[in-house]
Amino acid sequence: MAADTAAPACIFCEIIAGRAPAYRVYEDDATVAFLDIFPFTRGHLLVVPRRHVDRITDLDPSEYPGFLATVAEMCRRVDRLSRHYNVALNQGALAGQIVFHLHLHLIPRYGETNPFLAPHRERLTDMEAAAVLRDLHAGSAG
Ligand code: AMP
Ligand code: ZN
Repeated sequence: MAADTAAPACIFCEIIAGRAPAYRVYEDDATVAFLDIFPFTRGHLLVVPRRHVDRITDLDPSEYPGFLATVAEMCRRVDRLSRHYNVALNQGALAGQIVFHLHLHLIPRYGETNPFLAPHRERLTDMEAAAVLRDLHAGSAG
């Protein structure tokens, strides 16, 4: 396919394939979870299906259990940081979607005055990511 007609590269497909860097929290045959590079809060992570789909309605029903199992497992990990969190899907540009590969946000909450106000976001550093990963994995085998 000529370069000018190629589908635009998907950054999450690149991460899944290991061609782009990411701070991976978890992966299995069907899903990958990694830290959001511009976290809303400490521990903000994303859960994605390995298969490229844009919309949640593009998932095959056979993919629902594996996807939800990973979301639930990531919630258990996030419980180590905070028992309060949002699980969010921005679906469509008008809803704030900027990466068009299905992803659920898991955003721990620590007592922000208004969790629905977007805070100033800074790029995650290697040092902070390592500390967050340590805390998410504390006491687990994987
Ligand atoms: P949205 O499409 O608005 O639901 O959110 C996309 C999210 O992906 C944003 O919170 C970005 O900070 C995050 N993001 C974009 N590129 C990367 C990347 N290379 N690694 C990790 N997170 C990313
Ligand atoms: Zn993709």
